[in-house]
Parts: sequence; structure tokens; C-alpha cells
Amino acid sequence: MIEEGYINEIIKNPLHPYSKFLVSSYIDINNEGENMEFLKYKEEGIAKEGCPFSLRCPYVMEKCKKDFPRYTLDGDRKVACYLYGG
Ligand code: SF4
Repeated sequence: MIEEGYINEIIKNPLHPYSKFLVSSYIDINNEGENMEFLKYKEEGIAKEGCPFSLRCPYVMEKCKKDFPRYTLDGDRKVACYLYGG
């Protein structure tokens, strides 16, 4: 689990990069793929150490490759990512 919260809020404003990836994977025929940026990272797989998304994350930092980030709370949202304190 990388992000918890109310589904409508997560879909409207995903915080975790992987949530953003999932939401952007939804092809909106009116959007013509403008949010497909994260799909270019899909081939890299899952990291065995640190954050599992570190091989595909455009925001990856050195600490992401070493330790899994802790969950941080932002209102009703819970996110496991160093971008939010980790
Ligand atoms: S912890 Fe690092 S690699 Fe993982 S999603 Fe956050 S920024 Fe990206």
C-alpha cells in the first residue's frame, strides 16, 4: 500500500508518484493522452530494495534506493514517499 485516502480525492489529486502513474494510465479520450508521461517508465520493473517504484519514478533520490519510505499523514491521506517526508 503506497497511498490511502478517499478514492475521489486520490483520483482527483493523487499524491504518490505511483498513484499519479495509475491515474494517468486511464486514457481519457478527451485528453488525447496528455497525462501519459509516467507510462514511459513502465518497462523498468519493481526494485528489490528501497522504494519498489524507484526504478520507474521520475522523482527518485538516492535514499529511495536504500530504504522503503515510512508513511506520512497529510490530512486524510497517508502516503509512503520521500517527497512527503517518508
Ligand atoms: S519514495 Fe522516492 S522513488 Fe519512491 S515514489 Fe517517492 S520519490 Fe519516487
